[in-house]
Amino acid sequence: MKKIKIELEDFLKTILPDQKLFKFLSLAQDVSKKRGEFLYFAGGVVRDYLLKKLYKKKIPKTKDLDLVLQGELRSFLKELFEKVKGEILFESQFLTYKVKVNLNGKEFLIDFITARKEVYEDIAKLPKVFTSHFKDDILRRDFTINALIIGLSPPYEGILIDLVKGEEDLKKGLIRPLNLNSFVDDPTRIFRGIRYKVRFGFNFSEDFFLALKRCFEKSALKKLSGTRLANELKLYLTKEPEKNLKDLLMTTYELNIFEEAELKIDKKNFNSLIRLLKELKGEITEKEKEKFFLFGLVNPHFLESLYRLGFLDPEVKELIRYKGFIKETLPNWEKISLWEKIKIFEKIPLTYLLTLGVYFPKIKKEVVKFFKEYRKIKPELTGEELIKLGVKEGKEIGALLDLIRKEKVEGKVKSKEEEKNLVNQFLLKKSKN
Ligand code: ATP
Repeated sequence: MKKIKIELEDFLKTILPDQKLFKFLSLAQDVSKKRGEFLYFAGGVVRDYLLKKLYKKKIPKTKDLDLVLQGELRSFLKELFEKVKGEILFESQFLTYKVKVNLNGKEFLIDFITARKEVYEDIAKLPKVFTSHFKDDILRRDFTINALIIGLSPPYEGILIDLVKGEEDLKKGLIRPLNLNSFVDDPTRIFRGIRYKVRFGFNFSEDFFLALKRCFEKSALKKLSGTRLANELKLYLTKEPEKNLKDLLMTTYELNIFEEAELKIDKKNFNSLIRLLKELKGEITEKEKEKFFLFGLVNPHFLESLYRLGFLDPEVKELIRYKGFIKETLPNWEKISLWEKIKIFEKIPLTYLLTLGVYFPKIKKEVVKFFKEYRKIKPELTGEELIKLGVKEGKEIGALLDLIRKEKVEGKVKSKEEEKNLVNQFLLKKSKN
């Protein structure tokens, strides 16, 4: 076990997002000292702190504070809340607690984790967890670079503990699983490993490939549930910088992970998908974006593969139906007027339409324009104003509003005045007939 003395204050200054948390941590330290239970930081914060020291890398102040206690966390928290205003928001089956604390009027969310051992009874299924020693807690982790801890209380206060040569791997820039069965136990670690490799510009160690081989031999990726698989892919989108997405997808593809997970993916889609995601920034909700991302990844010839990602029958059938719809119109696409295209697009829900923009490069440009521009073009005149101008209530209003939109899209009508002129012309023509 390698032990290295570190400057605790420097560590805390580097990782804590707010000054107020200093006082909180010092109270947590007091409680753990009094109870004789070992409190430490683990995972991402320790890794990122060392990365900063080693490579002078700029690291963001952490949002996830993962504090681990070798001890009885529930009563620890009870004691802590006698000194700090706080409450448990959520307790998971994995002996973890999401805690909200109020420090001088400001609220913070902190994850408290019990030092635990994990036992995997079934391939790719969630483990059974047991309260345990900090050494077991280190050894249950995914990669050596994530298995370093920094103690906040005796017997290792201000000490970096390295049981797995994690510091060496950080220096060498290597992603190494803790054992060769790691990906059989939990194949989601493969996706995590790919994220770290791309994020830090690291390489996979030889052990990574050996563990991957074993995972393939045991068909562990096939046994991973659709929800967990989809979640890991969504993290490419939500947790990593946008500029890394292509690299993340290509690395996953080249390692044969999609195929092993029984997902039919078309790498030809990647560029269009990424470009569309970029174009649509701020225009769609996070939920819609995630759905579009998964839809867009899949090979259009095998849309059934979306069942593998946990999508339900009506959603998949709907996509298949809309795909057929566009495919039918495609041979005549150049001949169809812009307005007709817009009328087709309007019949398709947005997430589905964007996906079709990925599947059919021919319509992509127009889909983007529709999304960013055309669908937002609305008449300035309201229904009531139309009635005042002399339009009959009922169907005629709808038809006229549609006509105004069409003329606006085609650039023939630009102002409210021109909209009124168009209505008056319409009424005049009608009165003559
Ligand atoms: P980041 O948030 O920067 O991606 P992190 O290390 O904080 O990195 P989390 O997902 O918050 O990532 O996980 C915290 C720690 O929990 C990890 O550093 C790792 O030690 C451990 N961990 C998370 N998921 C797994 C897993 N599937 N298998 C083993 N250990 C894991």
